[in-house]
Amino acid sequence: MEFLCSFCGKRRGDAKDWLLGFEGTKEKSVVMKYTITLLGKWDEERASEPNAVHFCSTACQNNYVYKNYGDDTWAA
Ligand SMILES: [Zn+2]
Repeated sequence: MEFLCSFCGKRRGDAKDWLLGFEGTKEKSVVMKYTITLLGKWDEERASEPNAVHFCSTACQNNYVYKNYGDDTWAA
């Protein structure tokens, strides 16, 4: 299975130190809120889960979260 960085599109190849996160929705009363959970490390088994997002670096992870979630929805 091949993974691409969800922010810059770089191929993972044999690179180490990639980061994994999971996106989902949380229902808050009537409002659906998109959330992201950052694993802070790579997990080969969970990397192929359908809601997984992959990052080649902390910088890409931060940029992605900022771009998609703004800075009020951090959920580590
Ligand atoms: Zn990247």
